[in-house]
Amino acid sequence: MINNIQRYGIHDGGGIRTVVFFKGCPLRCKWCHNPETQSFAPQTAFYPERCAGCGACAGVCNSGGGPEGCRGCGRCWDVCCYRAREGAGREISPEELAGIIARDTPFYTYSGGGATLSGGEPLSQEPGYMDELLSRLRKLGIDAAIDACGAVPWERFENLLPFAPVFLYDFKTLDPALHKEFTGRDNAEILDNLEKLCKAGAAVKLRVPVIGGVNEYACERPGEKPEIEKMAEYAERFPVQEIALLPYHNTGSHKWARFGMTEPDNEFYTPAAGRMEELAAIWRAQTGRKVVVGG
Ligand code: SF4
Ligand code: SF4
Ligand code: SF4
Repeated sequence: MINNIQRYGIHDGGGIRTVVFFKGCPLRCKWCHNPETQSFAPQTAFYPERCAGCGACAGVCNSGGGPEGCRGCGRCWDVCCYRAREGAGREISPEELAGIIARDTPFYTYSGGGATLSGGEPLSQEPGYMDELLSRLRKLGIDAAIDACGAVPWERFENLLPFAPVFLYDFKTLDPALHKEFTGRDNAEILDNLEKLCKAGAAVKLRVPVIGGVNEYACERPGEKPEIEKMAEYAERFPVQEIALLPYHNTGSHKWARFGMTEPDNEFYTPAAGRMEELAAIWRAQTGRKVVVGG
């Protein structure tokens, strides 16, 4: 189930990349900036500012016409001439997807790029999907990076090791209770999978969202470090290629309402640029790894 495909990406892996956003995720991060990738079902976005009020969508909809009750049949996506109703979620086979990705092969060759499989959690698609996709990409000579939140059974990772993708792996909090409070699940499986990936010699780049008010906060107990600094101490054990500290941003905030979803209450904030550089220095000193801000 594909949410969208972005070509000519220059983040999320090296070189020029085609980024595939899969739909469906086992987590429910309160800061999620792609909330439409949480559900595995197709959804409809409504852009009221584009709507001309022609009523064509109401004539074809059997769910009341609002994004809240949408069943994703796609009829209003086709009849709206003003692009006021747009769909998210289309089933594409591994064969077709590999073909779409392969169209930009000259760019990958020139720049050292490839495909980035993101989401959502790409590894939570139906069993065997990602194995077949990576097998096809490998035959086409296209490198793949997988942007994973990690909350899937280990077998999903293990099956992909022969294809040697780069894993862009999220590390959100060390404290399991904090993780559960802000993502809906604790982090035991996620940290376990990370450890196994590193032991298996996989290429891993750690991605650490720095969320003001969650893992980055002024600690109330004297002498205790903020969560983000405890995470650096923990991460020291992982032989990862790179660590990217990603400051919180709320650029996806408008999407919740557009898809008929309710944005969770929050008081998140973006850490100041100076604090991000300070954290990068702390992580560099603690882990001895290459640490970048952003990515
Ligand atoms: S079809 Fe499009 S323009 Fe017409 S009422 Fe529906 S959303 Fe508005
Ligand atoms: S896709 Fe459009 S027409 Fe179909 S159920 Fe959803 S809102 Fe109604
Ligand atoms: S893991 Fe990513 S896609 Fe899933 S809920 Fe969290 S931020 Fe959203």
